[in-house]
Amino acid sequence: MGKQTLDLTDDLYSYLLEFSLRETPELRALRKETDQFENAQMQISPDQGQFMALLVKLIAAKRIIEVGTFTGYSALVMAQALPENGNIIACDTSKEWTTIAKKYWQLAGVNDSIDLRLAPALETLRILIDAGHTGQFDLVFIDADKVNIRNYFEHSLILLKAGGVVLIDNVLWSGRVIDDSDESDDTCSIRRFNEFLLHDERVDICMIPIGDGLTIARKK
Ligand code: CA
Repeated sequence: MGKQTLDLTDDLYSYLLEFSLRETPELRALRKETDQFENAQMQISPDQGQFMALLVKLIAAKRIIEVGTFTGYSALVMAQALPENGNIIACDTSKEWTTIAKKYWQLAGVNDSIDLRLAPALETLRILIDAGHTGQFDLVFIDADKVNIRNYFEHSLILLKAGGVVLIDNVLWSGRVIDDSDESDDTCSIRRFNEFLLHDERVDICMIPIGDGLTIARKK
């Protein structure tokens, strides 16, 4: 092993989960149900979920925005880490997927702390900005369509307070970011965003090789 991150074999990843994962029964059941679907890979990994939940506690987040909710695992894991007066605005366009999400939020008793907005996320973010909620949020998790990744980030920065954190998911995109033959809109958008963020002086950053790659950006 050199300076790089350890190569996580299947066995080693199993060990990591066995000796660190504290998944609640609701999270586990939701993950199992989502695993049956073809696009189950849109769900974050359980270790990433636990990392995000810990981060919620570390920064004592109370107000969170999630851009891209899918079947609700990330919102649920963050909601379970929030204090009683905390809440999450969850943005998604799919009634079908978020119906599953709501079922598990209810089961876990956190449905009241998650405000689901079924609309294009950029619309919801603009509504929040126009309503004067700028500089009020502690954390934004961006995990939606990749073409708008920069747009979501810019809106998030406006809504975050100083010291607030943006988490951007899928920044390594299954390795496609370094595949020159891949010029799809999604891949190019993620590449452009990563290149942009490296030099964005408004934030402190760290790109973490967890899940499909997660960048943490802290607003200065
Ligand atoms: Ca994702």
